[in-house]
Amino acid sequence: MEINKTMEMTYTIPSELKSAMAGKCPRCRTGNMFASPMFSFGSKRMLERCPACDLKFEKEPGYFYVAMYVSYALSVAELVSTCVATYFISGNLENPWLYIIVALVMSLLLAPVNNRYSRIILLYWMTPLFKFNPKVFERVKEKGL
Ligand SMILES: [Zn+2]
Repeated sequence: MEINKTMEMTYTIPSELKSAMAGKCPRCRTGNMFASPMFSFGSKRMLERCPACDLKFEKEPGYFYVAMYVSYALSVAELVSTCVATYFISGNLENPWLYIIVALVMSLLLAPVNNRYSRIILLYWMTPLFKFNPKVFERVKEKGL
């Protein structure tokens, strides 16, 4: 009887959108980009390097200033859709304070979402250097991370 000593392991590669939504590293799709979950009271800090593949997220000093523009675009899209939804729900065209209050509350509630997803969008789809690398993914999985 022959015993096969090489263990053939197969891993399913998570989809790009799923890893982006979960805040995983763009190169290995395994390590977390952030120190804690989005709506926790803990630190909102982004990790300096991927804990699985050691990718340095801030590829040059001040790189995340670009994320401010992404965050701005996200905020504008959210505010416009919030105000349109407010109009359809309330039918109000006389009182501007309703729109101002709803817009302020929504921008405060969505600040952690914008902070996180502006960086994720920047690293996943606006940084050509950070592409998914199947070899890195395989190496990380073989290490058991
Ligand atoms: Zn990684």
